[in-house]
Amino acid sequence: MGHTVSEPNRTSTLSRRAGMSSGQPIGRLMALALKHPNLVSLAAGFVDNDTLPCETTAAALRRLADQPELLRKALQYDMTAGSGILRANIAEWNYRRFPAGRPDPERMIVTAGSNQFLHLVAEALLDPGDIVLAAAPTYFVFMGTLKGVDARIVGVSSDEFGMSIDALQEQLQRIAAAGDAHRVKLIYTVTDFDNPAGSTLSLERREQLLEVVRRWRAEQGPIHLLSDCAYQELRYEGEDLPPLLALADDASEFVIEAGTFSKSYSPGIRVGWGVVPESLAPTLLEMKSNIDFGSPHFAQVLMNDVLTSGEIDSHLPVIRAGYRVKLDAMLDALDAELGETPDVVWHKPAGGLYVWLTLPEHIDASEGSPLWRCAMEQGVLYVPGYYCYPTEGEPIALNTIRLSFGVQNPAGIRLGIERLAAAIRQVAQT
Ligand code: PMP
Repeated sequence: MGHTVSEPNRTSTLSRRAGMSSGQPIGRLMALALKHPNLVSLAAGFVDNDTLPCETTAAALRRLADQPELLRKALQYDMTAGSGILRANIAEWNYRRFPAGRPDPERMIVTAGSNQFLHLVAEALLDPGDIVLAAAPTYFVFMGTLKGVDARIVGVSSDEFGMSIDALQEQLQRIAAAGDAHRVKLIYTVTDFDNPAGSTLSLERREQLLEVVRRWRAEQGPIHLLSDCAYQELRYEGEDLPPLLALADDASEFVIEAGTFSKSYSPGIRVGWGVVPESLAPTLLEMKSNIDFGSPHFAQVLMNDVLTSGEIDSHLPVIRAGYRVKLDAMLDALDAELGETPDVVWHKPAGGLYVWLTLPEHIDASEGSPLWRCAMEQGVLYVPGYYCYPTEGEPIALNTIRLSFGVQNPAGIRLGIERLAAAIRQVAQT
């Protein structure tokens, strides 16, 4: 009674869900890079290795070792939502420039990187067949998560200013006309210097996006807007734009925000966080509690020291300056190598770790294509843009490439672009 009897003739011990977790392509690309040590990898989205904050972290650990009571606490479980002190400090620090949006720490959850938070959101909101709209291209790891919960992902045309709001409205109308309006649950945006396209949602589009969601909620039903702010601190020029939560009083009712220290300090410490509407907080906490009772408390105490000692604020200008040099090296090399090649296009991102390259339409850059093979022969690895496209909505552009400038030094970046350009020229001639 109440339980469905499992099919007697099953052929696998794996769950249906496990079957849907098709590995991430980036894992395969990284294995390739390891197998071919002479390959210049412009694929991995890792942060710069040389500026990882080793000394700062060692000092924070020593301070912790010198405070036996704090250390004892750090070695104990804490709340599922994460350390209350850390949540309050993150709210304060993260909204230092836009205090109007500062969230109540009661609506925040500390997670093991923001990926865990994104995963929790997907699990909490999506049933199989539910619809998520996202820019095309978008963050492929989150697409993997969405596929894992059997959601439909609808791609929305985007440019250097992020998702086109007209295109978003068109997609929403198309979905409503097909009778699927009730399936729409989430709009996902990587708000600043996104992965993969390096685009930043303009202020005008931020306001329009809030309005589209507000209207949909009034006319069609509850949906949420998920703003992924992973790269927010990595701005190399221009002024910070207000986060969605700071733009309207009612935003806290439907905006979910994901944040992380992975890019601003260290991905290895695995401290990220999320801000959710009050109505969602208890559910997400229960789900998180089922997973791990809360993220590693030790890492949270460490990050709290890094925040409150001001070390993160001294670290940020150092990494921003380093990335700026790398970004310039990549853009200069692209100009020198491909500036004259017809129909090869890229934009200058104002921050982040990625440059998005669009090639002439007839050049397929996907894994195994002639360009891919030629680039491997030349000795350069890239992420085919193809992986970053949802399978519905905006068509997949096979002629696109994501280039990362985070890990390589400027000489490596130049060499990688020279090799890639040679491959592109070779394939364009055939
Ligand atoms: N969002 C985006 C857009 C990212 O690129 C990344 C990292 N590559 C993350 C979230 C998650 O990073 P983490 O889990 O380390 O916080």
